[in-house]
Amino acid sequence: MNRVRCLVFNAALGPLDYRVPDGMAVEPGSIVVCPLGPRQIVGIVWEADRLPGTEVPDAKLRPLASVLPVPPLPAPLRRLIEWCADYYLAPMAAVARMALSSSAALRGGGSVTEYRLTGAVPKRTTPQRAQAIERLDGQQGTIRELAAIAGVSDAVLRGLVNAGLLEAVIVDSDRPYPVPRADFAEPQLSDQQQVAATRFVEAVEAHSFAPFLLDGVTGSGKTEAYFEGIAAAISAGRQVLVLLPEIALTETFLRRFEDRFGVPPVAWHSALKSSERRRAWRSVASGVASVVVGARSALFLPFANLGLIVVDEAHEISFKQDDGVRYNARDVAVMRAMFEHVPVILASATPALESLQMAEAGRYEKIDLPARYGGATLPDIAVVDLREQQPERGHWLAPPLVAALKDRLAKGEQSLLFLNRRGYAPLTLCRHCGFRFQCPNCSAWLVEHRLSQRLACHHCGHEVPPPATCPECGEPDCLVACGPGVERIADEVSEILPDARVAVVTSDTLTSPARAAEFVEQASAGMIDVIVGTQLVTKGYHFPELTLVGVVDADMGLEGGDLRAAERTYQQIAQVAGRAGRGQKPGEVLIQTRHPSAPVIEALASGDRDTFYAAETEARREAGAPPFGRWAAIIVSSEDEAEARDAARAIGGAAPRLADVMVLGPAPAPLSLLRGRYRYRLLINARRSTELQRIIREWLDELNFPQGVRVGVDIDPYSFV
Ligand code: ADP
Ligand code: ZN
Repeated sequence: MNRVRCLVFNAALGPLDYRVPDGMAVEPGSIVVCPLGPRQIVGIVWEADRLPGTEVPDAKLRPLASVLPVPPLPAPLRRLIEWCADYYLAPMAAVARMALSSSAALRGGGSVTEYRLTGAVPKRTTPQRAQAIERLDGQQGTIRELAAIAGVSDAVLRGLVNAGLLEAVIVDSDRPYPVPRADFAEPQLSDQQQVAATRFVEAVEAHSFAPFLLDGVTGSGKTEAYFEGIAAAISAGRQVLVLLPEIALTETFLRRFEDRFGVPPVAWHSALKSSERRRAWRSVASGVASVVVGARSALFLPFANLGLIVVDEAHEISFKQDDGVRYNARDVAVMRAMFEHVPVILASATPALESLQMAEAGRYEKIDLPARYGGATLPDIAVVDLREQQPERGHWLAPPLVAALKDRLAKGEQSLLFLNRRGYAPLTLCRHCGFRFQCPNCSAWLVEHRLSQRLACHHCGHEVPPPATCPECGEPDCLVACGPGVERIADEVSEILPDARVAVVTSDTLTSPARAAEFVEQASAGMIDVIVGTQLVTKGYHFPELTLVGVVDADMGLEGGDLRAAERTYQQIAQVAGRAGRGQKPGEVLIQTRHPSAPVIEALASGDRDTFYAAETEARREAGAPPFGRWAAIIVSSEDEAEARDAARAIGGAAPRLADVMVLGPAPAPLSLLRGRYRYRLLINARRSTELQRIIREWLDELNFPQGVRVGVDIDPYSFV
């Protein structure tokens, strides 16, 4: 009797046992089709002794339907899936689903039909057709993908196919990627870089687990240093995974990679077309894809033969996923490296305190690049005290910053203004009755976006056009914008410097890798004088002519008051400051603040990172906060306010009474309404040595909740809203 245990893709079901029919060959990791009632679902064959079993007698087992034409999920990835499910208290099926992230890939290779413009000019046209032809310039994709890009229906595109304006292209989804060459353009490394590179090469060649913290100031050439580790992996015929915090950064990376290795790496992110996903997934699984660069979801790709993992900008909080499976890609990357027996490099100019602590404890090997590459100096940082140097009424740029901007424009140099707030204004109200525009689904204000002429909720995406009259009192033309967003700062710059070419850079404007590439090209070519941007522009970019950075409001990040507020403010400002003076000319940074003597501002101004981190570390130690203590959050939500509150109270009432575990709450979450669901939170603080996951699992397993209640657990939370 050939009986196998399968993890099936239905989080409500446990593992199920099946019979392997004669003539079918499976092994642990095989991806199979399992009959379930009248349906068929995808499953993964698992080691029977690692999952709880079912009692079904052999004779009653149903046979597996088929094996999908893809390599079995490798054992290290199966161990990672188990670890994530256990550590983050997530259903194993939900974690495994992240590994099988292209359903098309599972069906095998083969070809896809895509379409592109033929270039023919239509004799007569409709507005819809004209719009499609304009927007599809240079695009290729399936009818459905092109319809989304063009903003027209499938039928309009079918019409274009019939009219000979769109042509079919057959795309082989298993065509190989060009192979990077380790020796394509070897750099001249500085002595410091050479030391780092040598360690990485040794570690890759040793092919065993080795976590590194690459701690190098902005512009020190961390990328060139870890590229040598990548070169070693390529030479050894092994695969590499590079994780970046945002898609927008991928573009710069692709270019630098191509300069060094002759061809671009394989990209993996949410903006890929389904045919690209399929191709990438399959070539990763077969071992053909050599170097993959991607956002955090790339972490669960089924590498056949991994040799190195790099997490660049490893301190970034966007590595933390806050919905679905709540995991931290930085930490999971280290675990994956452990299971795969390969080195992992966490690179940052402003490492997370947790990572520094691991280095201090000797768990990570720390490698320092303390100086900028090529003799460039770190920028001068000065503080503008907004209590003394006040901006004009209704303006946000103080006189010293205005003067500096004028000076740069006169010299033909670039400036960057940083404000971490999208849109024009964070709050809109009626001058007449005081009415404030709020999201109907969330406890949040609607943010005015003038470029796209809408009021939008940044939590759920709800948006409305700005009304001509106040919805409350009916007064016409009475809306006033309160506070600044990047669009408003851009307006202010245009008012002060009418000749300046200003670019607003946020997730609203850099909506795709192609847009990001366009921005980089324009900025590099000197076609932009002033960049006004959110955290999106704080990292990764290298514009040699950029010599001035202005931080519009350094106090903003400190307001939230969560435990990482000061650390995050330090990281953001140090990163954005690091964009200045990367070329021949020295850089200057002006930080606008009302709290010039706050420790984080003083540390930034004096460049004394060590003292700041030491003080933060002490504060964390005293608070029993990570990395010295452990935290978890339980988030309870329901569309029914009373139901959410009752469930949260029931959880609070059943809280374990243990000496080294403290439970705070339940309390309404700061974001007490989100996407139409009322939210309550509990926060758990425990000693490092406690088995927090086991305690929470046993605690919640005892309770039952009404259907409409969702209970989520966030281990090592970053968000406290
Ligand atoms: P970081 O990531 O540490 O901020 P980068 O890797 O962006 O720094 O390097 C800063 C700049 O210096 C980049 O333009 C990079 O191409 C250049 N650079 C760094 N190291 C070298 C090298 N060994 N040879 C040539 N250029 C280098
Ligand atoms: Zn909303």
